[in-house]
Amino acid sequence: MTHTTPKHGGGWPPSGMDPEVIRVLRPSDGSLVGELAVTPSHEVPRRVERARSVQAGWASLLPKDRERRLRALLEAIDERTPEIEDTIVAETGKPRAEATVEIVSVVDHIRFLLKNATGFFRPRRIPTGWMAWKQAFVQRDPLGVVGVISPWNYPFMLSMTPTCTALFGGNGVVLKPSEFTPYSGLLVEDIARDAGLPEGLVQVVIGGGETGEALVRAGVDKIFFTGGSRTGRAVLAAAADSLTPSVLELGGKDAAIVLEDADLARASRGIVWGAFLNAGQSCIAVERVYVVERVYDAFLREVLAHIRKLKAGSSAGVEIGPMTTPAQLAWVEQQLAEAVEAGATVVTGGHRTDPASNVLEPTVLTGLDPTSSILREESFGPVLPVVRVKDCEEAIHLANETPYGLSASVWTKDRKRGLALARRIRAGAVCVNDALAHFGIAGLPFGGVGESGFGRSHGIEGLEEVTRSRSLLVDRMGIEREPWWFPYNRGTERLLRGALLFRLRGGLKGAFAAIALMVKGGRR
Ligand code: NAD
Repeated sequence: MTHTTPKHGGGWPPSGMDPEVIRVLRPSDGSLVGELAVTPSHEVPRRVERARSVQAGWASLLPKDRERRLRALLEAIDERTPEIEDTIVAETGKPRAEATVEIVSVVDHIRFLLKNATGFFRPRRIPTGWMAWKQAFVQRDPLGVVGVISPWNYPFMLSMTPTCTALFGGNGVVLKPSEFTPYSGLLVEDIARDAGLPEGLVQVVIGGGETGEALVRAGVDKIFFTGGSRTGRAVLAAAADSLTPSVLELGGKDAAIVLEDADLARASRGIVWGAFLNAGQSCIAVERVYVVERVYDAFLREVLAHIRKLKAGSSAGVEIGPMTTPAQLAWVEQQLAEAVEAGATVVTGGHRTDPASNVLEPTVLTGLDPTSSILREESFGPVLPVVRVKDCEEAIHLANETPYGLSASVWTKDRKRGLALARRIRAGAVCVNDALAHFGIAGLPFGGVGESGFGRSHGIEGLEEVTRSRSLLVDRMGIEREPWWFPYNRGTERLLRGALLFRLRGGLKGAFAAIALMVKGGRR
């Protein structure tokens, strides 16, 4: 690691005083990654103010000049790729290939923003309706300073992507990465510095929930929060005090629906990957599968065959690594125990590879009661409940049963039917014959409904979240008095009634009615 206390944590505390320190441990073997000083809560608003003072200059640049400078992020990431991968692997325990995927996704987003941000800022002419003598425009303005709060499961990607979106939107950023993965967050500040962005435009504060809450209350112009639904509620409650708008990217309980005409070879592979990638610690992991009974046995056989070939462990070269935090592992084990007690069968897995490790074997459960908590509450671990259903109607009904609504997938050879069913699932995104891939398309807006949160990241919608609209109107005629200005008289009334008829009846019919009224000079 390149960072040590006191380089980060803002030079806090003054010499001679013991800092509050975060110890970051490797999930693979419990060894120390490093220690960092916590940024004291009272320091957080100062960081926001500093970012704000730098942001004013950043916002005043033409979008194309900002883009030119932000292009340097690509070079900075290129230079640091091995370090970024090492840091992600050290802090999360995930396989290196999955660390690389985080960087690919970030770079793809930067490319998307490079292509689209300048056009996004171009003012748009808006039709003026009956006020034909006016000109109207709408343009987008930066918000100011965006507070980004990120989780540990994709610690680089989920810190860097919202930061980049905010920067392309002309904003400054104060980022609070997860206390479990702060070094991945600190890389965001380093990359911004390497890219030559103005000093202070991107700053990282270190700490846990208290520091996160301090950021929410620090006078930022928006909070972009990614994390659990319970924390999301606390963030929103704190944001309400200062009416700080928020994007909440929260948890999920994503369903996969396997229909009788599915390509089982593809469906089983895709679902196994979607469920066990990152040891199941993805917000959009496949967390439950509903399989139409005609293909249930065959599907389960194929799933088990794929799982048998997966390597789980803490060393390099595995597909399933350790779970990142002991608390997450404990939660998944508790959920499993409860499901088994309620009558579920563990068809494979169910144990740690070694009692002393954080590695949970990829686990498949069957025979679940539909009301079981493991089918309703987010697991966020390598556990896949497989449920037999009568038909697709039952599958859709069950898929829509949870309060979450992040994403889902439908597996069928009939693409038209797949799309029709996809539209009936209550979720921010649905894939047909694929899982999770929507996240990898930078132009597709990403976000949830219900307890999965609100607001969108990615795509043009992501840029909209970090900017606000400004409406502009210009009068082109320069007449001394608009017909509806004081003083009100018969002419005012006539004109407004004419306008009303024109808009009510529309087109030529409306125009004739309005003219007739003016000429007659009376009431209609
Ligand atoms: P978490 O909610 O525990 O923590 C997320 C972040 O919030 C951390 O930085 C944490 O320090 C901070 N925090 C904690 N309490 C806070 C408070 N009161 N005010 C402000 N900030 C506070 O989540 P986690 O365990 O780090 O991540 C796992 C969760 O994140 C899962 O539920 C997962 O589904 C969700 N997630 C969602 C998405 C998405 O895009 N929808 C992506 C990844 C993860």
